[in-house]
Amino acid sequence: MSFLEELRTALGPTQVLTDGDLSAWELDWRKRWRGKALAVVRPGSTEDVAAVMRLCSAHRVGVVPQGGNTGLVCGGVPDDSGTQIVLSTQRLNRVRSIDEDNLTLTADAGCVLQTLQEAAYARGLLLPLALASQGSCTIGGNLGTNAGGTQVLRWGNARDLCLGLEVVTAQGQIWSGLTGLRKDNTGYDLRHLFVGSEGTLGVITAATLKLAPQPAATTTALANCEQLDQCVALLRLAQSRLGSGLTGFEVMGQHALSLVAKHFVQLPRPLPAAPWTVLLEYSDTEGLEQATTRFEGLLGAALEQGIVNDATVAQSLAQAQALWQLRESIPLAQAEEGLNIKHDISVPVSAIVDFVSHTDAALRQAYPGVQLVNFGHLGDGNLHYNVQAPTGADGKRFLDEQEHAVNTLVFDAVAARGGSFSAEHGIGALKRDELAQRKSPVALQLMRSIKAALDPLGIMNPGRVL
Ligand code: FAD
Ligand code: ZN
Repeated sequence: MSFLEELRTALGPTQVLTDGDLSAWELDWRKRWRGKALAVVRPGSTEDVAAVMRLCSAHRVGVVPQGGNTGLVCGGVPDDSGTQIVLSTQRLNRVRSIDEDNLTLTADAGCVLQTLQEAAYARGLLLPLALASQGSCTIGGNLGTNAGGTQVLRWGNARDLCLGLEVVTAQGQIWSGLTGLRKDNTGYDLRHLFVGSEGTLGVITAATLKLAPQPAATTTALANCEQLDQCVALLRLAQSRLGSGLTGFEVMGQHALSLVAKHFVQLPRPLPAAPWTVLLEYSDTEGLEQATTRFEGLLGAALEQGIVNDATVAQSLAQAQALWQLRESIPLAQAEEGLNIKHDISVPVSAIVDFVSHTDAALRQAYPGVQLVNFGHLGDGNLHYNVQAPTGADGKRFLDEQEHAVNTLVFDAVAARGGSFSAEHGIGALKRDELAQRKSPVALQLMRSIKAALDPLGIMNPGRVL
């Protein structure tokens, strides 16, 4: 039997797709990469995944694990060789259990993040992982990329929420590590190897995640600042006055919001345009009245100190959602606007003002008229520092011709400030060369040793990360 026949026998013929339009699995979210899959394979259980991996191991076929296909670094689509299979987790979509006393949720890897948030919410609990792609990304993809998002400031990255994993190894063995334990020092912590490994070490088939009690009230506000250092001052003030109640602190540059205004005209803009707009979220265990009072106190102090020159607090859930929509529409508005050179960088918060002023100036000098689409998770020192062609210039041409030089300029500035050239999106194929160049030789050697130990045939997501 051929490899494909064996797959069809193992999973059933309808779960091995080779014909028709496979672009949902072969084309990435940014529409930058179109691969060609040998087949799209849709296992329905962990045992199915193990069977697929045993066959791929026996036939030395490359496997690209894929969840929601919302990744931004060309990590979850096959290359164009036609030799790799896409292993889609779409059918692994069961919430296995919620333990209210232990504050944990266990779910299959293919569950959409928003479905899990809603499952927790229905039990009065909070799954504190939130990103603009939450309606389509999966928990397996979130853990595979160690996703960040808008709640990292308070709750950490996906890694920090992961207590246990179930993984199918490259050889097709099942590692059942779905403990909900907060404490378990029994040798190497294997879950942390797989979290953030971008499908290069094994297939995550299920996870146990930390939950938290739902806050009694959450309030959201927008504040305008003239300069980025005022946004940092506002962050400090908010942290000192609100403590761990500060659950979101997002910054949006003027040009980023102007793209939202252009492509999403129906979205309300409660504040006038300003060089920088900050979105703050505060969650309180007491109730709405106390939350509003504390929040208004903070903003009043910020206005008085001249840190902020205009602010508005959402008066209803709908208004709060509309403010978040402004922030979350930025990547979508950018995609509408056309191709651009994306950076997902982090530096210490103390270095962010210097990074932005230095890099803005250097880019403007090198590419007169260049447009900078700046936004991100300022509370985490993480900016989406995106570079768009000068007005009127061809975006695709700018990307093709200048991407390397622009990346070098931006990443050198990041490195000079002790930062990271990939804060939350990962490496995929897009930043593989950057990793090889910028990571220390010792770190790379340790990574290669881990890869060789877990995937000696090199069939797990070949060509990604390393
Ligand atoms: P995919 O795109 O399918 O895969 C991503 C990577 O994970 C690939 O390397 C893939 O091989 C691997 N993978 C997928 N499933 C598994 C599995 N079960 N086992 C092992 N490996 C697996 N990211 C952030 O971190 N923060 C953000 O704020 C954020 N905002 C975004 C906003 C928008 C509008 C979009 C489109 C993307 C955003 N992203 C963000 C990027 C993306 O949504 C995340 O990386 C997300 O975690 C990917 O999940 P996915 O299920 O779509 O994974
Ligand atoms: Zn982000």
